[in-house]
Amino acid sequence: MHAIRAVAGAMLLLAAPLASAQSPTIDYAAERAAIGRYQDADQRLQDVGWQLARGNAAFCPRVVPSIGLQLQDMASYGAPAIARRALGLSGDFAVQTAVRGSPAALSGAFARNREIIRLEGFDPNTWPASPAMEWQRLITAHYHVTAMLTEHGGIAVGFADGSDARLQPVEVCATRFELMGEGKTAVADGTRVVIGIEFPAFAYDEPEFAALLAHELAHNVLGHDAWLDTNGRSRKHVRRTEREADRLMPWLLANAGYDPAAAARFWRQWGTKHDAGILLIRKHDGWDEREEFVAAEVPLITGLMAREGKADWTAHFRREIDPAGGLLPQRKR
Ligand SMILES: [Zn+2]
Repeated sequence: MHAIRAVAGAMLLLAAPLASAQSPTIDYAAERAAIGRYQDADQRLQDVGWQLARGNAAFCPRVVPSIGLQLQDMASYGAPAIARRALGLSGDFAVQTAVRGSPAALSGAFARNREIIRLEGFDPNTWPASPAMEWQRLITAHYHVTAMLTEHGGIAVGFADGSDARLQPVEVCATRFELMGEGKTAVADGTRVVIGIEFPAFAYDEPEFAALLAHELAHNVLGHDAWLDTNGRSRKHVRRTEREADRLMPWLLANAGYDPAAAARFWRQWGTKHDAGILLIRKHDGWDEREEFVAAEVPLITGLMAREGKADWTAHFRREIDPAGGLLPQRKR
């Protein structure tokens, strides 16, 4: 669950082998297309993750200011020079994604791959980086953006063509969504949700894909990683935190404008294909039980949405664990 080097994993698939002496011809169109496929997946992840983080900002234990902008750093690729040329950049930083409906997207200034040379007075290109597969600098740049938004209540982003855009942030739950360039895993480590690009739910319809992200976001907003560190990762503890994350899924969905019933549909869709592996481990309830648990939350959520226009899970959600202690008594089923 920890120390995942997710960011920039993308570019393992890119360029390095082609750049060898044996193949003097580099197909830049193919390189650009490979980057584009990764960016398409990242756009989907950011759009849906941000919608959940934005829609639940009123209830999350920690919020951060966000403009919905994600950067890319050519130094994170296996062959930065090839990546730069494929995208037509002279420096290393450019727009990766501007989240649907975010301040960045609404400004109209953040087209994909547009080159960036300034983040509020700093040129990230001047920050040191290793020659290739550099992943730390991009993280630093994102933290820098958040710091500027926190300190100044806005940020000016300068583009290579000499123009700039000044943006005001909105509040979102303090979780970053990161795409991993390979793998089928989905994990939450307390501050991040990291999804492998081969995770099957990428092929699901948006509400069901959102349900997966809601499950991972739930782990973070309910403090599960820290709680398990304190209380131990016994099978019983893991199962109860999984159940709690499951049960919160429809709440997070509803506040983000999705159908809360999509949580149950996610488990059905997932379970009919991936049943065996999960049942073998038995740290989780079976998918059919998970479907029941999440479906059971929906009437309460629907009632709250109708009466209050929001589903305040800080007030109305029944916890399975005591955040400051151990397990809470289990309710009879
Ligand atoms: Zn989980």
